[in-house]
Amino acid sequence: MSQPRVHLTAPPAVVWVARTLEDHGFETWAVGGAVRDGLAGRPSGDWDLTTRARPKDIRRVFRRTVPVGIEHGTVGVLARDGTMYEVTTFRRDVETDGRHAVVSFADRIDDDLARRDFTVNAIAWHPLTERLHDPFDGRGDLERGVLRTVGEPEERFREDYLRVLRAFRFAGRFGLDIDEATWAAISGVSDRLRGLSAERIRDELLKVLDTDPVPSRALGLYAESGALGALYPELDDVRCAETAGPGPSAWEIACAVVDTLPVGNALLRLGALLRPLGAEPSAQLLFRMRLSNAQVDRTLRLVTAPPLPDPGAPDAEFRRWLSGVGRDVWPASARLELAFARTRRALGVDAGSDPDAVVGAWRTARRVRDAGPPLAVGDLALDGRDLISLGLRPGPRFGEILDELLDWVLDDPSRNQTELLVERVLAMETPGRA
Ligand code: ATP
Ligand code: MG
Repeated sequence: MSQPRVHLTAPPAVVWVARTLEDHGFETWAVGGAVRDGLAGRPSGDWDLTTRARPKDIRRVFRRTVPVGIEHGTVGVLARDGTMYEVTTFRRDVETDGRHAVVSFADRIDDDLARRDFTVNAIAWHPLTERLHDPFDGRGDLERGVLRTVGEPEERFREDYLRVLRAFRFAGRFGLDIDEATWAAISGVSDRLRGLSAERIRDELLKVLDTDPVPSRALGLYAESGALGALYPELDDVRCAETAGPGPSAWEIACAVVDTLPVGNALLRLGALLRPLGAEPSAQLLFRMRLSNAQVDRTLRLVTAPPLPDPGAPDAEFRRWLSGVGRDVWPASARLELAFARTRRALGVDAGSDPDAVVGAWRTARRVRDAGPPLAVGDLALDGRDLISLGLRPGPRFGEILDELLDWVLDDPSRNQTELLVERVLAMETPGRA
């Protein structure tokens, strides 16, 4: 097979790692995302190296190594530039069950490339000779704009159904068309996706939202293939809901909003997708994704936040809004509201708020917040211990009292003084004193 020479700009440390291994007699290649992206003229992310050296060899050859995944044959090599490069021994699949694979080490780069998912991800590039080793014509597919499995699609998906979701991510992110046979195999297996672990399913969606400048393409593939219905039925319900009239549906608007939000903030974009759902279905979906309690809590407050008050509404209304949404989440919520308002406007949808009004209200909210008013029970000049010293018995009533005090203080922050609050408590709790 011919191995054309191609120049890719690899970090010097990648060349150094490869040279060190080759000098010890171990064939070594760069593979995966960095080669794919380099060939497509995009900035390359992580450089992964694959080698005939076994993990024990790699650890012998380099002074500073980290056993990042010894069981998979992956050793982290700490280069002089301070970056850690993952070096993985050539591998071959021995056994696969659709969820995980048992792999064994291999001696040939071709075995290693054959177990990779898509042709565009199965291109090897030699950092010293700059030769391309591309037995599945991944470069041709990249040029034609096609995503295609290495080998027989049904078999490859059966080995690991996560590859279905990876297909959506790569096709969406790089604007590739999914090859016909690959797509036919995908359409048949959406029910099987439910067998994947919640974490792997979640991480795939979060990667789309985190890294894709235009996630609506990948999301469209989730929807079209049936994966959305299998994995995120709450979202699929929104997508399938009847729209009142002509014009974009709530799902289409939410996807368009996601496209306007920046990469690097997956949960903000997830919040946009969930907005049309409401609290209960959103909570179900977020818990099923196994996000941390803190992430679920934040995202739910983001999703269920009421609209900002009118820009000219009294400050007290803004304090109530800030208090309800929370100090940590309110800017994200304002941002989402503005993104929805702008997108609706751009799509010619009448309903919803006016973007200028949202900008005005956002400014007011910031001014009100900057005055530093008490917004949470923890900001009150009185706490549970004070209630005990007043002779009250600890219990569920404590929470109610503090909530009532906060409510009173939100109307007028100057009321947040211990003596005034004590007086207020006594008035509340003493029969006949009002
Ligand atoms: P990204 O830029 O998103 O990191 P990537 O191609 O580097 O893209 P990774 O998930 O980091 O993707 O995987 C690195 C490489 O390992 C892939 O390019 C592919 O060759 C292979 N690979 C990863 N996951 C699988 C899988 N489930 N099945 C087969 N090959 C896989
Ligand atoms: Mg990668």
